Amino acid sequence: MIQIYNSQSRQKEVFKPITKGKVGMYCCGPTVYDYFHIGNARPFIMFDVFRRYLESQGYEVNYVQNFTDVDDKMIERARREGITVKELGERFIAEYFKDAGALGVRPATVHPKATEHMPQMIRLIEGLVDAGIAYEKDGSVYFHTPAFPEYGKLSGQNLEDLDSGARISVDDEKKNPLDFALWKAEKPNEPSWDSPWGRGRPGWHIECSAMSMEYLGAHFDIHCGGQDLLFPHHENEVAQSEGFTGHPFVNYWMHNGFLNIDNAKMSKSLGNFFTVRDILKEYDPEDVRMLLLSAHYRSPLNFSREMMMQAKASLTRLYTARERLLGLEATQKDKAGAKADGQLIQEMEEIQARFTAGMNNDFNTAEAMGALFELVYFINTKLFEHSAMEEIQKATEIFSGMTDIFGILSKKTDEIPAQVQTLASQRAQARKDKNWAQSDALRDQIASLGYVVEDSPQGQKLRKR
Ligand code: AMP
Ligand code: ZN
Repeated sequence: MIQIYNSQSRQKEVFKPITKGKVGMYCCGPTVYDYFHIGNARPFIMFDVFRRYLESQGYEVNYVQNFTDVDDKMIERARREGITVKELGERFIAEYFKDAGALGVRPATVHPKATEHMPQMIRLIEGLVDAGIAYEKDGSVYFHTPAFPEYGKLSGQNLEDLDSGARISVDDEKKNPLDFALWKAEKPNEPSWDSPWGRGRPGWHIECSAMSMEYLGAHFDIHCGGQDLLFPHHENEVAQSEGFTGHPFVNYWMHNGFLNIDNAKMSKSLGNFFTVRDILKEYDPEDVRMLLLSAHYRSPLNFSREMMMQAKASLTRLYTARERLLGLEATQKDKAGAKADGQLIQEMEEIQARFTAGMNNDFNTAEAMGALFELVYFINTKLFEHSAMEEIQKATEIFSGMTDIFGILSKKTDEIPAQVQTLASQRAQARKDKNWAQSDALRDQIASLGYVVEDSPQGQKLRKR
């Protein structure tokens, strides 16, 4: 039973999909005006892990993540670079896939682009105008918040509080300070599209309503994004979508906490702004995943050199555990072997159950990571001592099930355990020294671990027996 903290109800709720066995999930994607930064990596990686977990539990997940490829930042950057907004978008969408791929973030089922969904957005806006919830003014269209009395329900604010807070920025075109643009009338030298209100471009919020409903239907399961998007972006999505359909839009709203750098908010002016492209020059992508997985997604998370070093050390322990499993399997193959101990099998199943309980508890990866390290300890101690083939296989299956959900340990390296490689290099040295007795002794030792060493003109070759 999976429980999800729903930002809308501000409590954990049991997850019940709309259609049995299926999950529709929409995550707000990047605005493609630059390389994405390490803060953006948090939702991309965490929601990728939740998707993997849901799949491991038998759900078929339809995962949609958009690209915002037209907005003020895009227009401004394209102007500076002397290229079109379209060219800029294409460039940074390609860069997104490079960095996300390096981080082990699987491509979504669909990656819709805002600029390719104008008819869907226009249809929504027209519906809202027809319903009297939106109005046109000088070629722009605004959502009229007082016409949607539930406005504020997602972020838990009421219209009056919001209203008084918003008065300061009165905009003459709007009937109410909380009204927001659905369509913006064309300005010189900006990309624009035809619409019933003349040429113009869409507002940001309507993009996500249109694209999510296009691929997941008018009512779907999970909508995610960073906590900064709760208000106004997601609040406005609810207003637009429910204003249009007259029924609920999303069942579970999930928001990740922010990533800070050395305990400070990341910002270009503070000089602590890092793109993933920069970070990956210095660190392994799996170190980044380890760091993010070590905290619950809703907690704030600090990114520092020290934290990265810890993540790297933890990851090394996991790779070593995998090598040890491979080594145990290689040594055990030829032996008559110990009989499996039911007690040990049960202990592994209990560790697995704790992993699942952690993930079921609002995707608490920190808790689940704890269970993975319990398994590492188990491998290094009890399994190392007993090691019946059935136990080794069980440990391998549970271990790789967990690391696949986390999307780590993807490096295949060589399957030959470090121990065997060390013996082989000692043997190469012994042969150089013409110490044939030692060379033979090392060959036997390697053989006892299940590997064969062959001498060739290019040097030694190792293979599993
Ligand atoms: P943007 O391209 O700015 O719209 O951001 C893409 C995603 O990254 C959104 O879900 C944001 O909420 C999220 N995000 C942006 N900055 C951070 C941060 N420092 N920590 C965590 N998430 C962030
Ligand atoms: Zn969005």
